[in-house]
Amino acid sequence: QKFAAGELDARLPVSDIPELNRLSVSFNRMAASLEGVEQRRRELVSDLSHELRTPLTVVRGYLEELADGELEPSQEVYQRMVRETKRLERLVNDLQELSKAEAGYLPINLQPINLRPLLESLVEKFADQILEDGPDLRLESPVGLPLVLADIDRTEQILVNLIGNAVRYTPTGAITIRVWFESGKLWIAVSDTGIGIASSDLPHVFERFFRGDRSRTRYSGGTGIGLAISRCLVELQGGQIFVESQLGKGSTFQFFLPLA
Ligand code: ADP
Repeated sequence: QKFAAGELDARLPVSDIPELNRLSVSFNRMAASLEGVEQRRRELVSDLSHELRTPLTVVRGYLEELADGELEPSQEVYQRMVRETKRLERLVNDLQELSKAEAGYLPINLQPINLRPLLESLVEKFADQILEDGPDLRLESPVGLPLVLADIDRTEQILVNLIGNAVRYTPTGAITIRVWFESGKLWIAVSDTGIGIASSDLPHVFERFFRGDRSRTRYSGGTGIGLAISRCLVELQGGQIFVESQLGKGSTFQFFLPLA
């Protein structure tokens, strides 16, 4: 009753009766999980307000100064405003994608596809973005891959998220995309030698709005939505995604898709 009335930290006591005790343990586990959701929902509202406010303030500032004639219209000013509006757009798009994916409204067009050309073009695209002293980006995949039953655009979205994160969180070393297949599944692993994830953070990385080091990732422009979307997209295609990581050593995100 207390819990239902909003006391989310209320828990059931230990009982001497084993059956009741098992029930308490289950109930308490559920209660802790709901309490966590509520906590993250609150953080979300405050994070979102912050994320939305910053670009809006910048754009409004420029517009007011331009309107008052205090600021000369220049290419740079307009470019800055474009950058800020793009940030807003990305955030809103991410949120929309996530809510659609979670509600199961995202159309998924499953077809037999060969992922090799997609992987090659992504590696090329990301390699162009990495600075000269940045990590090496490698693809380790058999040339002839069996077809998977998947949606090519959604699979690209997953890979862009995973490789994008690896690039963002790996200052030097290597990022390796490894592909293999076994018993009806095609596995893709994105491994990096980057900053890694603390073991206490690891169970939460796929939760929406989870960001490792809040200030650092805010600075790096992350929204904490990418992995939540990725997990949804993998599962909508009948796969599963996993993570392993060691702080200071690197991370591996791997998922499978069913073979066609
Ligand atoms: P973000 O947009 O913040 O990167 P994600 O959902 O993609 O959101 O990732 C959630 C968090 O997981 C990140 O803020 C970061 O702390 C951690 N993370 C994800 N990928 C990596 C990686 N390859 N190396 C280290 N940390 C990572």
